[in-house]
Amino acid sequence: MELEYEIKYSKRKTVNISVERDRSIIVRAPEGVSEEKIDFIIKSKRQWILDKVNHEQKYPVKLEPKEFVSGETIMYLGRNYQLLVVDEEIEGIEFNQRFLISRSNQKEAYSLLKDWYMDRAKIKIEPKVKSYAQNLGVNYKEVKISDMKYRWGSCTPNNNVIFNWRLIKAPMHVLDYLIVHELAHLIEPNHTPEFWNIVSIQVPTYLKAKEWLKQNGYKLEVEF
Ligand SMILES: [Zn+2]
Repeated sequence: MELEYEIKYSKRKTVNISVERDRSIIVRAPEGVSEEKIDFIIKSKRQWILDKVNHEQKYPVKLEPKEFVSGETIMYLGRNYQLLVVDEEIEGIEFNQRFLISRSNQKEAYSLLKDWYMDRAKIKIEPKVKSYAQNLGVNYKEVKISDMKYRWGSCTPNNNVIFNWRLIKAPMHVLDYLIVHELAHLIEPNHTPEFWNIVSIQVPTYLKAKEWLKQNGYKLEVEF
């Protein structure tokens, strides 16, 4: 198999190879390094790169971005719902087993949907964080809903917990797992057996959630 890669030159000092989440290979190199030299490096690191490319956390496909036309499906809490563009005037997004948007708002569909998801993420995630934090006996300062691209959640040093709004595309049991995962890090920073023990007490089905993420995680990364 021939490895395809993209070279990005910059003012850096060393050559760095990375395999992105969508399995594309990016070589970052100092200006002036020849393509032959890079090709040599790629060949010498071939096995390492292949291991990375085939790692289970890399995702099999790059999904196409939505065009926001009638009939497209949009994921919410683990299910796909149809989008319908209608002639009547609707303020923002209406959701009732389908997503409705006015034709006059179609151009703004992306930002309207994102606002809708941010709101839903806040409504769904905040109370869960509160109750799981109580169960675990941990304190946090604030829950923030963010727009991180490749992380589902994180804790900041000053005990804020941050969750990606895209999480509410996932089924509720996965959402529970991801929330508990972050909160459990307030007790145990590393993925030790003790960490997983804490997680499993709160979310006994956490292995199912991990499996769902392995199979479907890439669907959360595209917008909607
Ligand atoms: Zn973790």
